[in-house]
Amino acid sequence: MTTTWVPVPEDSPFPIQNLPYGVYTHGDQAARVGVAIGDFVLDLAAVLHDDVFARPSLNAFLASGRARWAEVRRRLTDLLTREEHRPAVEPHLTPRADARLHLPIDVADYVDFYASEHHAANVGRIFRPGGDPLTPNWKHLPIGYHGRAGTVVVSGTPIVRPSGQRKPAEAPAPSYGPSTRLDIEAEVGFVVGAPSGLGTQVSASEFGDHVFGAVLVNDWSARDIQAWEYVPLGPFLGKSFATSISPWVVPLDALEHARVAPPRQDPAPLAYLREDEPWGLDIALEVEWNGQLVARPPFAQMYWTPAQQLAHMTVNGASLRTGDLYASGTVSGPEPDQRGSFLELTWNGTEPVKLPDGSTRTFLEDGDTVTIRGTAAGPDGARIGFGDVSGTIIPAV
Ligand code: MN
Repeated sequence: MTTTWVPVPEDSPFPIQNLPYGVYTHGDQAARVGVAIGDFVLDLAAVLHDDVFARPSLNAFLASGRARWAEVRRRLTDLLTREEHRPAVEPHLTPRADARLHLPIDVADYVDFYASEHHAANVGRIFRPGGDPLTPNWKHLPIGYHGRAGTVVVSGTPIVRPSGQRKPAEAPAPSYGPSTRLDIEAEVGFVVGAPSGLGTQVSASEFGDHVFGAVLVNDWSARDIQAWEYVPLGPFLGKSFATSISPWVVPLDALEHARVAPPRQDPAPLAYLREDEPWGLDIALEVEWNGQLVARPPFAQMYWTPAQQLAHMTVNGASLRTGDLYASGTVSGPEPDQRGSFLELTWNGTEPVKLPDGSTRTFLEDGDTVTIRGTAAGPDGARIGFGDVSGTIIPAV
């Protein structure tokens, strides 16, 4: 049992077994890398005497590779558990409440997948009633698209309602205006640390050598814009206006205990997508709409694992860059209260959600706030928490 001298509240998402990385400012200090422990953030440049942490992003540390990630984690665990280090380390703990959190990584490329069978089938039933809910390729490859890296924002960033073209089925022509069907997608994102060369492939078994950790993602989606624009090349302006991520990157080393086998894959995928030791992860998500819990999406139900997604993303020889972010796709389970988008939760707006103030919702209204949380089991009975990813909708400009 690992115990720390830092006072950590019992229900804290950040016990000693977690140690997630973020970028923060405190007072008029320059932005720097910190690790969350209980109600504090630890200044890594100060305690490790390494300038790689005196920077406004994690990228330089992420690029240093798996051996260095493990070494730093061991050193931090040592500093925070052995009483003899307390006098030197404690002055470099800042209350998290006093720290301002920033986007933790310079996002290189951003990819979004579509890995929940329940989500894909729900969307198929809503938009292609009477047809096969899954497309013919769905169980053969992890479907994805390239999103817009430059509009990935940290939790708390206000989300401006996007405007664009939409054409309801019954309308004779498209019109322009603010989206009236603004939605969320609750997802888990994976952060690439170690790059790979152009023309090389990264296998599923090399997942832990390249991927540093995970964040929560809200893939804000304007369904009306998306529905009109997406054929035949996929999502574009209905998604690219903003994607929110949680401020703390939880290392894969903290998620080892949460590994589970994913649902059985039938038909068996092609050889390059097979995993000897699968990287399914039992992460329990919660979605709050204006403070009301509306869904509990189970990440353990995802059909394709992040290691399979990494293998697929590089099977054509595409290289990885430090700071690449790829998200899982909307996490939806089999039950109605496990759906990770409002499109599914309200069944395309036909089954409104009732909020605590008595009002009802189908899609997002201006002023609405959505918060996604996530936890996973850790060693010693610990709970590994993700930082929240939250966003409030502000009116279209
Ligand atoms: Mn998505």
